Amino acid sequence: MPVPRPRIVKETRRPVAEVEPPSACLVRPHEWLSEESRSEFESALRSGRPLPLYISEKAERKIREHALKYAPRRLEVMGFLLGEVSSWGGVTYAIVRDVGTTELRSSSSKVRFDPEAFPKLFHELDGSGFDYVLVGWYHSHPGHTCFLSRTDLDTQRTMFDQPYHSALVIDPINRDIKTFRLAGDSYEEVPFALFPSAEVEAERRPRRRKLKIEPATMG
Ligand SMILES: [Zn+2]
Repeated sequence: MPVPRPRIVKETRRPVAEVEPPSACLVRPHEWLSEESRSEFESALRSGRPLPLYISEKAERKIREHALKYAPRRLEVMGFLLGEVSSWGGVTYAIVRDVGTTELRSSSSKVRFDPEAFPKLFHELDGSGFDYVLVGWYHSHPGHTCFLSRTDLDTQRTMFDQPYHSALVIDPINRDIKTFRLAGDSYEEVPFALFPSAEVEAERRPRRRKLKIEPATMG
């Protein structure tokens, strides 16, 4: 699905703040992780270092429900991962607080945003009161497992080439989910953790004066 590079009208460039990631006792693995992904998650957690990616339960639910809604017709869905990039102990990690999507043109093996829908998407994001950074994208592979196709990889290279940019792929039929990042000429799976939105927001809010957190209204 080669997509035109969107004009990010509201991406905030700001220095990476030193913020502790969601604590190990609050985070959990996704229920759909394969045995292998789950053991990667556990060893990453045991290392005591920040995981590459943390996803709020609210964002995860939106992604899963989006993918499941179109699964009966075997249609792919996609959207953006929105959140922030922070650093802790010299390790940079990304937090996904919410997702944004818009009208899609999709089939069972291709999906793209309707180009005319971009202005609408970014208008909605502007109105969300949420000072976000685009930290990656998600899309579904209904029934064909989680990996990056050649076009997915092209999308990643074109639009998401920063070290903190992730690609989340969810297969709502096989109940599988994986997150990937670019690695050299190819890509690699990276572990991610889910965190409960409310507790972690309460912990992080006082430290981040600039971050306004309000429920986003994008679909
Ligand atoms: Zn794909």
